[in-house]
Amino acid sequence: MFSKSSPQSLGEGDTPVQADFPSFARFSRDRLSASDVYLSNSVTEKAMIVIDVKELSKRYEQTVAVKNCNLQVASGEILALLGPSGSGKTTLLRLIAGFERPDEGQIIINDRTVVGIARLVWVPAENRGVGMVFQDYALFPHLTVAQNIRFGLRNTSRKERQTRVQQLLQLMELMPCADRYAHELSGGQQQRVALARALAPRPPVVLLDEPFNGLDPELRPQMRREVARILRHLGTAAILVTHDQEEALGIADQVAVIRDGELQQIGTPEDIYYCPATDFVASFIGQADFVPGIVSGQHVRTEIGVFPSPPHIPPGPVKVMIRHEAVTSKPGGIPATVEEREFLGGEILYRLRLPSGATIHLEQRRPVHWAVGYQVPIKVHLPNVVAFPDSSSEKSR
Ligand code: ADP
Repeated sequence: MFSKSSPQSLGEGDTPVQADFPSFARFSRDRLSASDVYLSNSVTEKAMIVIDVKELSKRYEQTVAVKNCNLQVASGEILALLGPSGSGKTTLLRLIAGFERPDEGQIIINDRTVVGIARLVWVPAENRGVGMVFQDYALFPHLTVAQNIRFGLRNTSRKERQTRVQQLLQLMELMPCADRYAHELSGGQQQRVALARALAPRPPVVLLDEPFNGLDPELRPQMRREVARILRHLGTAAILVTHDQEEALGIADQVAVIRDGELQQIGTPEDIYYCPATDFVASFIGQADFVPGIVSGQHVRTEIGVFPSPPHIPPGPVKVMIRHEAVTSKPGGIPATVEEREFLGGEILYRLRLPSGATIHLEQRRPVHWAVGYQVPIKVHLPNVVAFPDSSSEKSR
């Protein structure tokens, strides 16, 4: 798994120039100057694998919290770990951070094995080069913003500490709050201080545990864009734990979906959305309905049409995934009865019942009012058919 774009770096013969640390508001993935790069963590040309997790497992008595997990994150890449509550996200993050010991597996950070059971390697959390941002920010209440950021720099010279703190205050647009205490900051500012403190020692890896949870919902999209921009600019590899799919799809280069401790799929947000590997991923990510079908030869037959059969699906009963946006109303289409109507502002969501009893949803962007019971002729457009073998249908036959 490599990021599609790696952080830029100095070309041969370029001279690093010391410069003011630019404000993050001006950052762009496409507009990095040599001076910006001098201040970043990474000066390598290609995105390298910074986090490599191999066959990692962790059990708490009867509970398998993490089962045989494999994942890789490259420099400058953000991986969102997404799953329902209790699926093992926090445990996986804590294993990588060094707060928990795995039962099996290996973790390599920046080319150094930090956990390897077979070789009995154990590098403690503080020596792993990992920055942590917690849900509650965990700022020191008796320290100012500048002192909180400086905290992570205890082993550097006084001058270096001062320079780095100034850089981060500027990067995070926290200059005006440098002397304030945590209780004098807004949620967004506290979040930026927590991130600044984690990034101060230039860790190659940052782990973020539901970092936007404490923010007002309307602040979150802007904040996550800013955090993503900073991490990418610095070339820091990041794992972000979230249960919010919009956040995961919006911020991440790679999304890893976890369920009952097992990674179900890792891929780009587009892969996960359009080509889910399991019906759990299909229904967990985005809105999906399933209609029954039968695969036979090159086709899958359903009551809403005959579609090309997806590869690797054996003949027999299947569930065909239908995203809401695939359904439109069209004269002469298959009749579907309106069961429920929900006004969502920019669109109206209709739940429709098909002749077989299966339900399907249609998003109507035009202000068309169909009453409950009205028959809507529908058409389903499926350029890429996604289907899963339907074992329940197999049993009931
Ligand atoms: P998530 O972060 O996805 O909500 P967790 O990683 O916190 O999930 O938990 C995964 C599973 O491991 C859950 O069943 C949880 O109850 C269990 N678990 C987590 N930590 C402990 C612990 N310290 N002791 C016992 N069980 C735990």
